[in-house]
Amino acid sequence: MTTTHALLPLAVAVAVAKRPVPWTLIIVTMIASAAPDIDGLFKHFLGVPPNSIYGHRGAAHSLFVALAAGVMAAPFHRLLGVRPLTAGVCVAAAMASHGILDMMTDSGQPVAYLWPVSSVRLFADWRPIHSGPMHIAHLATHVFARFQSELGQLIIPMFVIAFAVRCLRAAGHKLNISLPQPS
Ligand SMILES: [Zn+2]
Repeated sequence: MTTTHALLPLAVAVAVAKRPVPWTLIIVTMIASAAPDIDGLFKHFLGVPPNSIYGHRGAAHSLFVALAAGVMAAPFHRLLGVRPLTAGVCVAAAMASHGILDMMTDSGQPVAYLWPVSSVRLFADWRPIHSGPMHIAHLATHVFARFQSELGQLIIPMFVIAFAVRCLRAAGHKLNISLPQPS
């Protein structure tokens, strides 16, 4: 689900950030992480056929589109409170993570991850993320069921790992400080 994609940058920030992360960077990476799913609306509003490269899990889910978004984000680094390279890498990585996670789901369409180099749609060999189909007629029930399932299998484990990494890093840091320095 789009919300789960959006939470990934937050978990990464919890796990690896050394200093407080600017909130603008967190918000922008959360948006970048969820953004590829905008192609789900193309079908309804622009009449794009589902098997088109511009349909769901098509061009918008590509690694190269994510890299381009990173390049476009770099000049706005001041707004994001970081250096240009950090801004570009964070936005590109957040957006690129979306296609990778989608390729690891067990339903839906495969992903055009290498577009425009290749229009072949890909699934990962290892697809542990269960995502049942959604039907418009039971949308509310299906959205709730999927959120519940993603909460258990993705969101909670993701934050548990993030906090564990943070605690380990903090413990390692303390250990480094308490070890006698060689003279
Ligand atoms: Zn997607």
